[in-house]
Amino acid sequence: MAKRKAIVSTRDCAACGCCIKVCPKGAITVPKGIYAKVDETLCIGCGKCAKECPTSIISMEVIGQ
Ligand code: SF4
Ligand code: SF4
Repeated sequence: MAKRKAIVSTRDCAACGCCIKVCPKGAITVPKGIYAKVDETLCIGCGKCAKECPTSIISMEVIGQ
């Protein structure tokens, strides 16, 4: 079965932290307050962060089959 993971377009991240608040797995951090980073080993692909991001820079990508 295909799995989805959240991918952050770091270049345009405002480091607002909105995505961190909604992630049920604690998979997102903002290292050094610069941009959001997703821990792929924790992400379950729920898509909540992508919906919450005010600048819509989180995309859900299918990885594997
Ligand atoms: S897709 Fe879900 S689990 Fe993955 S980083 Fe976003 S909110 Fe967290
Ligand atoms: S919600 Fe969007 S802009 Fe804000 S920290 Fe997360 S990825 Fe960056």
